[in-house]
Amino acid sequence: MDSNPLFAKVALLGIGLIGSSMAHAMRRAGLAAHIAGFAPHAETLEKAKRIGFADSLHDTLQPAVRDADFVVLAAPVGAFGDLMRQMAPHLKPGAIVSDVGSVKAAVIRDVAPHVPEGTHFVPAHPIAGTEQSGPEAGFAELFDGRWCVLTPTPDTDAQAVETVKTFWRRCGSEVEIMDARHHDLVLAITSHVPHLIAYNIVGTAADLETVTQGEVIKYSAGGFRDFTRIAASDPTMWRDVFLNNREAVLEMLGRFSEDLTALQRAIRWDDGEALFNLFTRTRAIRRSIVEAGQDTAAPNFGRLRKKT
Ligand code: NAP
Repeated sequence: MDSNPLFAKVALLGIGLIGSSMAHAMRRAGLAAHIAGFAPHAETLEKAKRIGFADSLHDTLQPAVRDADFVVLAAPVGAFGDLMRQMAPHLKPGAIVSDVGSVKAAVIRDVAPHVPEGTHFVPAHPIAGTEQSGPEAGFAELFDGRWCVLTPTPDTDAQAVETVKTFWRRCGSEVEIMDARHHDLVLAITSHVPHLIAYNIVGTAADLETVTQGEVIKYSAGGFRDFTRIAASDPTMWRDVFLNNREAVLEMLGRFSEDLTALQRAIRWDDGEALFNLFTRTRAIRRSIVEAGQDTAAPNFGRLRKKT
């Protein structure tokens, strides 16, 4: 594998789970001679300094992006438009700006108008993550074997797209090109709606009057705790995802509600065959995810059993 630096300087605007994982993956692959990190809070910069995944750390944008060949927006998506507008005058000619936002059409809408002449914007979304956040959550292997989707527009510079492809491949990912709106629909059903369902079921359990909180926690191994893992994901990031992928999420939620009503009807009318047929189809989907290497087949999602 190529171990020459792809960039002399990379600036990560946001050094939480994704930004810090990118820094670790870049170090592992020797992708950048200098990694600069930016975050607004001193406490985050302090943690990053202790871990040591960046060569320089900044609480202002200008020194972070100065002379950078590659600048990555890795903050919550609601902040991207302002970040792009503020850094635009300080970008090096020819610089490539990319992002890791979980939604793409809204990011292109907010960012593209502020990209200065002579620089390039390549929208991207690494489909990899955990429910942890912050600079201490990152690790080099996060992107290994996972997909990174690039959503260039017809105006995006083809050479810049190739460079970003090479970047993500060297971080361990497989790369796919997709239309931004299609990306948002696909992710609405594979990621955004599942998170909403998890937030909702955990919220419903918390508000129940007939079952105590103690019982919910004590008997959570029945399935509930797997929803709580997802429902522990960062509130700011997920607020921004739903507000910026409104249409696709609402469309998928409409479908979901119709299917839920059909299940309600099957239970009410004793239609065991309908239930059995659906559960058989869903089991096959789980099998295909494991076969595609996107999850483990180990029981209990690979959780270690407690020794007694
Ligand atoms: P995170 O761990 O919460 O980190 C967010 C980072 O952004 C922190 O360094 C934070 O700095 C910084 N930040 C917050 N507000 C900012 C602002 N207004 N301007 C500049 N920086 C700001 O979040 P993450 O999980 O890495 O997510 C980052 C991005 O990756 C999001 O756009 C998300 O959609 C995308 N993404 C996430 C996942 C996932 O599973 N988590 C997967 C793929 C893509 P402070 O700590 O100083 O506030």
